[in-house]
Amino acid sequence: MTDRLYLSDPYLKSFRARVIGMRDLDGKPAAVLDRSAFYPEGGGQPGDRGTLGGARVLDTQERQGEVLHIVDQAVSGEVDAEIDWTRRFDHMQQHHGQHLLSAAFDKLEAPTVSFHLGDRTCTIDLDAPLGKLDLRQAEAMANDSIWRDLPVIARDFTGEERSRLPLRKEPVKGDRVVVVEGVDASPCGGTHPKRTGEVGCIAVLRAQRWGEGKARIEFVCGNRVVKLLREANETLLQAADALKAAPADLAQAAARVTSESQARRKSLESLQTDLAKLEAAQLMTKPGPVVAKVERGAAFARAVAQAISSQGRTALIASIEDGRAHLCFARPKGEGPAMGTLLKEALAILGGKGGGGPEFAQGSGDPARLDDALALAAGKI
Ligand SMILES: [Zn+2]
Repeated sequence: MTDRLYLSDPYLKSFRARVIGMRDLDGKPAAVLDRSAFYPEGGGQPGDRGTLGGARVLDTQERQGEVLHIVDQAVSGEVDAEIDWTRRFDHMQQHHGQHLLSAAFDKLEAPTVSFHLGDRTCTIDLDAPLGKLDLRQAEAMANDSIWRDLPVIARDFTGEERSRLPLRKEPVKGDRVVVVEGVDASPCGGTHPKRTGEVGCIAVLRAQRWGEGKARIEFVCGNRVVKLLREANETLLQAADALKAAPADLAQAAARVTSESQARRKSLESLQTDLAKLEAAQLMTKPGPVVAKVERGAAFARAVAQAISSQGRTALIASIEDGRAHLCFARPKGEGPAMGTLLKEALAILGGKGGGGPEFAQGSGDPARLDDALALAAGKI
């Protein structure tokens, strides 16, 4: 049985221990120690990493009551061990922050049903509809608990002691309870700081509906708030630079660019239609069906074909765009050859795909035998 040093001293970063066994966990070697400060994954908090002798500890897991240190190579005898403290302290900030945020939501009648500590952000799922939640109030209450820098008690409580605590949830295993007086009492085997102030601060980032009558809250604590704010600020500055605007005017600048681009697109579409009509007029100088290849791609070929068919003539128009041959076949309404059938026959030569009805069809294929395909279709009109 491993003596779990993190329970009595969550600040222990390095220790000496004896390897009492090697196990196999999903094909990876895992060391069992007589004592360990490594926290095994549980209660939403990931397992610790670090070093064990000359080996790297990649993860720490618990199986059948044993603490397994998953290592990149086998270890034996007495070893010096060190946990990745930066990572662990980050987990302590997120995990304890979660206790305080869940306690705040609990007071607002939104109990927590699960917690996930991710690489970048954390989430809690609440058994309450999204519309009922006051995120800013819960955030303010949790930050108030942090800034009052209250003592955090994490120890085993006897059944009798526990019965007198206003527990936020039912104990899952063990007798350990984490108590911040007047704020929260919650059964938990995780690692916690000595005082709430070490969490630093909590920022609720966003909330979304998560199943019927439930909500998922995304948040960060401590140093992650600083990191995320720095990243967000950099993104803001880059965006402002790209839009040639002051960061404070970014929203207005983005809205202006979007509306300008919409106006430009409309004007471009109208110019393209006019240009297609001109091109169509030039192609219609000779009588009979119009068979032609045009520049400017698929959309332009379509506009030209439609302009010709609206003048009562059949059009077989092709254009090459991005290395593909695009075909647009159109004819006036009424009796006439089925454009869809004609197109399929032409595309069979190009090894392409497409389709359409009797009056209009389009598709694309390999341009190598485009002239053959157009000639075949023209011969059938
Ligand atoms: Zn906890």
